[in-house]
Amino acid sequence: MLYFSTNNNAPKADFKEATIKGQAPDKGLYFPETVPVLDKSFIDNINKYSKEEIAFKVIQPYIGDLIPKAELERIVAETINFDFPLVKVEENIFSLELFHGPTLAFKDVGARFMSRCLGYFVKDNNKKVTVLVATSGDTGGAVANGFYDVDGVDVVILYPSGKVSSVQELQLTTLGKNIKALEIDGTFDDCQQMVKQAFADGDLNKQLFLTSANSINVARWLPQQFYYFFAYTQWADKNNPPVISVPSGNFGNICAGLLAHRSGLPVSHFIAACNVNNVVTEYLETGNYSPKKSVATLSNAMDVGNPSNFVRILELFDKEFQSLKNVMSSYSFSDEETKNILKEVYLKDNYLLDPHGAVGYGALKKYLQQYPHLKGMFLETAHPVKFYDVVEPIINEKVPMPSVINDLFKLTKKSVKTKAKYEELKEYLLA
Ligand SMILES: *Cc1c(COP(=O)(O)O)cnc(C)c1O
Repeated sequence: MLYFSTNNNAPKADFKEATIKGQAPDKGLYFPETVPVLDKSFIDNINKYSKEEIAFKVIQPYIGDLIPKAELERIVAETINFDFPLVKVEENIFSLELFHGPTLAFKDVGARFMSRCLGYFVKDNNKKVTVLVATSGDTGGAVANGFYDVDGVDVVILYPSGKVSSVQELQLTTLGKNIKALEIDGTFDDCQQMVKQAFADGDLNKQLFLTSANSINVARWLPQQFYYFFAYTQWADKNNPPVISVPSGNFGNICAGLLAHRSGLPVSHFIAACNVNNVVTEYLETGNYSPKKSVATLSNAMDVGNPSNFVRILELFDKEFQSLKNVMSSYSFSDEETKNILKEVYLKDNYLLDPHGAVGYGALKKYLQQYPHLKGMFLETAHPVKFYDVVEPIINEKVPMPSVINDLFKLTKKSVKTKAKYEELKEYLLA
């Protein structure tokens, strides 16, 4: 399998090169030349396969022979070694809980897969790879955990001091070993700017082998298809495929679902659930795509004004507006609405949503009101405890802490305080 750049101005790359580079040299996103189609008999008999077998079958065509079978089987098995339960919330509405991984959010899947692939690809390098990543919260923990103790890879995470939640900060500062956290005296934008400058610094790149672990990397994007298939194995009414609502920010997660559907996964319809950062909702209404500055909301992992994976969605539909509209709808919710949904579902169904899942539930509910004969699921992308400071005042109750979080609070934060100046980052990296 080869990947082309969505900007069409860079050489094609195989999975190894696309994983190591992250972004194509023309600043486009890598996209598979063809979308593999799964046998109908595989889909019809999907419940006869283990989740490891399903995941391997889905991802293997994207990798070809660049990773030997036994090695890829190990990588896949380690990536998905936790549960992906589909839980009934009310009649016709189910929650696909994607928060049972080590950092309690769906980003664990992509980060665990990418880290292991990169670890495999750099195994025989004589030079260590340094993964540089800026985080506004969730990505840092998933990347730290995914890359922890991977041989040949050092990880440096930049995060804005005082601007991530306490759980998020502990997740990215307490591991040690090959994971280093730089606590930047500045904003997320400063962190991102420093990382960008490092990638553009020719002198630094001569001395270090730098790469990025952000969400546009194919090795983070493609494995997100896995749990759409796992959900289907748990879907009882195979004659009536689910409507799937995906809380969306950079649109990588929903784009992976659309890709799975293109490969043959039965889905009735997709819904992009957005907060007030609604460029895609507006696009589907008007046909005009106009990026905006992002606005801060309660579902902060979805505060994106110009979703990076949107070009991949256009690519998947050959830029045909109507064919995309036939498969995907979108709704947008304010923080006030999000709070009301969260509270109502907790009181009525005794199910606690996180703010992202609340937007997902709300969008699904709205669609099903129009199409009452259908059933659906929303992706619950994070555990509510990750956002307990937001959730507790809404429900007026304490959120019980899972043991992984309790254990986190026993660990000591280790970070290097750094000014928001590129020279300080460079000095640190070279030391
Ligand atoms: C990252 C994230 C999202 C958004 O996912 P995209 O793939 O960027 O659309 C939604 N919810 C949570 C909890 C996240 O961490």
